Amino acid sequence: MSQHLMNTYARIPVRVARGEGAWLFDEDGTRYLDTLTGIGVCSLGHAHPEIAEVIARQARTLVHAANVGHIPLQEELAGRLAEISGLDQAFFCNSGAEALECCFKLARLHGRQKGIAEPQIVVVSRSFHGRTIACISATDSEKVQGGFGPLVPGFLRVPFDDAGSIARLADDRDDIAAVLCEPILGEGGVVVPHDGYLAELRRICDQHDWLFMADEVQTGMGKTGRWFGYQHEGILPDVIAVAKALGNGVPIGACVARDRAGNLFSPGKHGSTYGGNPLACATALKVIEIMQRDRLVERAAELGQRIMAGLRKRLASDDRVVEIRGRGLMIGIETRAACGPIRDAALEAGMIINVTRDNTIRLLPPLIIDDALADRIVDTVSNLIKAWQT
Ligand code: PLP
Repeated sequence: MSQHLMNTYARIPVRVARGEGAWLFDEDGTRYLDTLTGIGVCSLGHAHPEIAEVIARQARTLVHAANVGHIPLQEELAGRLAEISGLDQAFFCNSGAEALECCFKLARLHGRQKGIAEPQIVVVSRSFHGRTIACISATDSEKVQGGFGPLVPGFLRVPFDDAGSIARLADDRDDIAAVLCEPILGEGGVVVPHDGYLAELRRICDQHDWLFMADEVQTGMGKTGRWFGYQHEGILPDVIAVAKALGNGVPIGACVARDRAGNLFSPGKHGSTYGGNPLACATALKVIEIMQRDRLVERAAELGQRIMAGLRKRLASDDRVVEIRGRGLMIGIETRAACGPIRDAALEAGMIINVTRDNTIRLLPPLIIDDALADRIVDTVSNLIKAWQT
């Protein structure tokens, strides 16, 4: 542990040195099957040769250029994102939190255009949206918010997966500009809402002329078996936030919008020094190309079914397990007791898993694994849970 690092992470005792595909290696050469992928980032695995090649080539060509000129790779990436999302215009930044900040600003501009003096954004319980002051204000976690007040005003919270509560809010208030939620709660415990929830939110937003904004930072880029989580319900949000797997580890985020929402900014209203630089855009373009060529979105759906079916078969009768849920390769196993010990035991068994909300094992394996590795995840996790002395 370095005395020169701020104390922000409760780290697992692994000193990472390198990666290869689905595997991470520590400084001693011990290897771990990585089902966390840098928290849902490295969907193509580690050190993907084509990603390494494009990074090297772009580094030799042009790493960074200011957004004062035109950046062709950025224009191309915006076009590809429009294709896969069904939306129109992108703003590029460097992280999920920044993509969310862009969403908040669009919502406020939209509200102002409607004559609302203090536009409100409806957010949901158990949400997580990042670590800036505005993002923690939108997030529903005492742990995340505690000690950082005063928080940013302008967020109204309703229960997740309860569209009725939003409809009721609409009866009481005339200052709402937007609704924001994750299609599947990620940090909140891999919680999948009931079918029709997102479509109902879409309908309510249309009815009141609110923007419907989806935080796709974790669910996006194929992880759930569709490019984006909202596509499971055949709807289009007005605005989405994308990051994580978009760059497979090279920092990039995007806020993508359509119609009016995509045209709310004018020059000078928003910006980011690094946002959409050639290195990040070349990498993200290659990520999308590989995912399409190798049918990795479809593969995520197949693998997810295989892993979840396997886990359900192996753990169905285990009363330590409350529920196995998820979509594609975003999988949660909720346990009755806090399951930190499983994470620790997984390390001993050569696997990195993650625990969220203390009692949910979260699996976000890379989309490039073969069936044998998928089965290995099922075997290892099931065996660890069965051997767990609670
Ligand atoms: N939104 C969601 C749903 C997330 O899961 C995260 C990060 O985990 C963020 C936003 C914040 O992204 P970043 O850490 O890149 O700022």
